[in-house]
Amino acid sequence: MPLTADDLITIQAAIAEGGKIWENVLLTNVKRKIKTHYLGVTTEQCCYCKRDMRDEFMMVIDIEHVLPKSQFPDYMFELFNLSVSCKRCNMLIKGDSTEFLFDRATVSLQPRDTEQYRLIHPNLDDYFENIEYIVQIKNNKKSIKYLQLKPKGVYTYSFFRLDKLEVNTLNNAQGIEIANTELSSDIPMDLIIESTVLLNQL
Ligand SMILES: [Zn+2]
Repeated sequence: MPLTADDLITIQAAIAEGGKIWENVLLTNVKRKIKTHYLGVTTEQCCYCKRDMRDEFMMVIDIEHVLPKSQFPDYMFELFNLSVSCKRCNMLIKGDSTEFLFDRATVSLQPRDTEQYRLIHPNLDDYFENIEYIVQIKNNKKSIKYLQLKPKGVYTYSFFRLDKLEVNTLNNAQGIEIANTELSSDIPMDLIIESTVLLNQL
């Protein structure tokens, strides 16, 4: 993480000023550095829904505090607790919630322990071991699917309402075609997905 000694001094100065520390203008450059760093870590995907944030204006990309900064201010600048997310996942859904913690009272004892978190932690867990994110786009048809591979994948899918982001106009188009002709060599999307899961388990 490219935070320099000067950055740490800046952070200390912002903390010393108190108030809404995260909003302090002193931190503008530090926050830009953090955001750029985690966009690299996440390959410019939201850390929770994996939607592509490449070429988005920096304003619509949030620095995500896994342990909310409002409730766990000690971890506001701890790198294990930071990532980048879209506003839908960060502001609209997660907000200040802590229900994704197994035990809010004890997480401070082991905040870097993956077992403290029900959701896929952006830094402590491997997202794609828990959820496989499959996007296919052809012309104006697309299929977006989240395969829930493990319990944290199931929780993350439910918590962030990832079903709302799934679409399957590719499959619908195939379905109509199959229904009309009753003859099609196209492989249904569900079969492709099932095959993918099986292949991954080999
Ligand atoms: Zn998101």
